[in-house]
Amino acid sequence: VVSFFSGKSCLVTGAGGNIGLATALRLAEMGTDIALLDMNSEALAKAQAAVREKGVKAESYLCDVTSEASVNDVVSQVVEDFGKIDFLFNNAGYQGAFAPIQDYPAEDFPRVLNINVTGAFHVLKAVSRHMIENGYGRVVNTASMAGVKGPPNMAAYGASKGAIIALTETAALDLAPYNIRVNAISPGYMGPGFMWDRQVELQAKANTQYFSTNPEEVSKQMIGSIPMRRYGDISEIPGVVAFLLGDDSSFMTGVNLEISGG
Ligand code: NAD
Repeated sequence: VVSFFSGKSCLVTGAGGNIGLATALRLAEMGTDIALLDMNSEALAKAQAAVREKGVKAESYLCDVTSEASVNDVVSQVVEDFGKIDFLFNNAGYQGAFAPIQDYPAEDFPRVLNINVTGAFHVLKAVSRHMIENGYGRVVNTASMAGVKGPPNMAAYGASKGAIIALTETAALDLAPYNIRVNAISPGYMGPGFMWDRQVELQAKANTQYFSTNPEEVSKQMIGSIPMRRYGDISEIPGVVAFLLGDDSSFMTGVNLEISGG
């Protein structure tokens, strides 16, 4: 049986990270060739090797998505290497600082917006021009529950992910005439691992009424706020991305799917 996904090609940004790699691996298992983009060369090399083990074509591209020129070069190179880009998983991102707005470091704010919003825009713009030419495209942007409802102490991150949800809606409208669907996912609290530990630790350090100053207690508070009373596992994300890239979601565009335990 030849699956819908086999022979397709997907550009994954933030492919050296947890969610990017897990999704790249899942798509590769279904036969999709993968172009991996990340700014961390070590993580990128490891991810490429892991994806290649699935037996698909996998090439890696070292790129900082905040540079429009570098994104344009990479997207052209990917099209040359793969012949086409059917899918985009627009996923690179950065959490930023944790502080109440009155203390939020001014230099961190544009940095987060630059990576999470402008970077995602650069990639979406360059890839959509190719997809329009190709008459086909499926895009999934990684937003966050922080963009659905702004969390305490995360002014830049929440604003950036709210922007991704709006960007997804606009892009869905602009690209609908060209057989390109654009949707978003919003993971909530995911763990265990670096992102979870960093978040718990920095929320404790932020020392506000919303969380304890004891990281272990913060962890309990966060889990207590989730109706399913656990954090999500990274493995619970790739299937949702695959659903949005695949034909089972053929009448869905501009949608933001929450992966948050309620
Ligand atoms: P991660 O840190 O493991 O991966 C992010 C990857 O993006 C890293 O490999 C990093 O090198 C790359 N990256 C960062 N800035 C870049 C840039 N300027 N250019 C190119 N690559 C860049 O984190 P993750 O959990 O895999 O996060 C992936 C996405 O999911 C992010 O957009 C993040 O905001 C979002 N998200 C994560 C969680 C979570 O709890 N893990 C929850 C909600 C949303």
